[in-house]
Amino acid sequence: MKTLVEYICTEKSTYAYDAISNKIISISGDFIQPLTKRDSFAITNYLTRCGVISENKIKEAIWINSFSEYIKMLGGKIPALVLELEQECNLRCDYCVYSGNYENYRTHNATAMKIDTAMKAIEFFHSHNREADKATIFFFGGEPLLRQDTIKTLVEYAKSIFGSKPLSFSASTNGTLITPDFLSWLHTEPTFNLYITLNGTNHDKYRHFPDSRGSLKIILNHISFARDNFPDVYNNQIKFLCNVDSFAEMVDARNFYISHSLHTPATTSFIMKRYGNEKIDSILRADIQRDNVAFEALVDLYINSGDEFCHSHFSDSLMTIHNRSMTAVYDCVPIERTCQPFGAKLFIDATGQFNICERTNSTINLGNIQNGFNLEGIKTLLDSYKNISSNACIYCSVQRLCPRCLAAMISGNLFCSIPDDICKNIRMSILRELKLYCEISEKNPKLLRLLSR
Ligand code: SF4
Ligand code: SF4
Repeated sequence: MKTLVEYICTEKSTYAYDAISNKIISISGDFIQPLTKRDSFAITNYLTRCGVISENKIKEAIWINSFSEYIKMLGGKIPALVLELEQECNLRCDYCVYSGNYENYRTHNATAMKIDTAMKAIEFFHSHNREADKATIFFFGGEPLLRQDTIKTLVEYAKSIFGSKPLSFSASTNGTLITPDFLSWLHTEPTFNLYITLNGTNHDKYRHFPDSRGSLKIILNHISFARDNFPDVYNNQIKFLCNVDSFAEMVDARNFYISHSLHTPATTSFIMKRYGNEKIDSILRADIQRDNVAFEALVDLYINSGDEFCHSHFSDSLMTIHNRSMTAVYDCVPIERTCQPFGAKLFIDATGQFNICERTNSTINLGNIQNGFNLEGIKTLLDSYKNISSNACIYCSVQRLCPRCLAAMISGNLFCSIPDDICKNIRMSILRELKLYCEISEKNPKLLRLLSR
């Protein structure tokens, strides 16, 4: 009998995670230890006979919305717009997706979004957001602060168009071009959040100017100026993003944030591996033993104290586990964790072309400012993703928790299955997170309250 079950052993107990019901079931008992492969086979048969876990009868993966429901969403409920204001940047970070170290991604260049393209993009977004109760506009690059005057003009323009609808703005910046004038302007725009990438002790290792000078000192000076002169902006509008190459580096970054009294990053994530070349492989080649020790230390800290820095890394996946739908699936498994294109945001590049998001390397024509959505292209994309998921993922025991995104399955204009090594890493992370979730439930269940959506 085929099942989709994973066993999770903590110090105190053993659990079965059954992908069909999406439930985590405690199955402790003397017969369960030690859990060798042979035992797990016998246990699975026993638990299936008892009706604790279910047989896998899934035949296909399907999108959670029908195509007509999806088109309705496109018509008036797109929640956010991402504008690629610039394809140029004043830094040359080694792990930047535009560094030339990632397959099929553009590289830095002088293309900038014209102001009338940006205005048309905002108008287009406005007309496709009418049924949503709020709207967000995100300025992206390259480095968007190369265009500070343009940002100010576009914020005024968007406010004039959206009228009384709650409207917020953000920009993602490397933090080197922040000026007193920009901070003073931010002070007058309290719904504008500035996300600064700050990686801590090892920041300069990868984030530097074209002449290899590090960028950390400049950023820290700007932050300290903001803290002293615009405390409201620093406290409420400046957020940090932290990228690390390993858990060992995450420990260093945490120490750095604490020792510099910086507020906790909004997210702490790993440098992207997918589509990277040998340079990216070398950046991500961690000392496994050291990294495991660092991971265990962070996990202990998180379980025991709910540490905020650890929360900025672990909470996203733990929230997925905590808030998962526990509706059992039969023939069809809904694609629950993948955003449909433009369901979360509409990305418009500097030339006015639509793309799934700022992190995809897709060259598939999904539409543009002049002609609107290319529904045929979008339908092909949705169908291809569904087919790949149906072929590659319906036998996978972590499919209902897997964050495989559309971007991971497109390269240039080709659809591809997720490469085996990426799949292996995703599975390993999910199993690790399931174990962490079970440990939190046992040792510090109060922490689960922070995970509710
Ligand atoms: S600052 Fe951002 S856009 Fe610029 S090189 Fe670094 S990662 Fe790329
Ligand atoms: S881990 Fe791989 S096979 Fe499993 S659901 Fe995710 S992408 Fe599919």
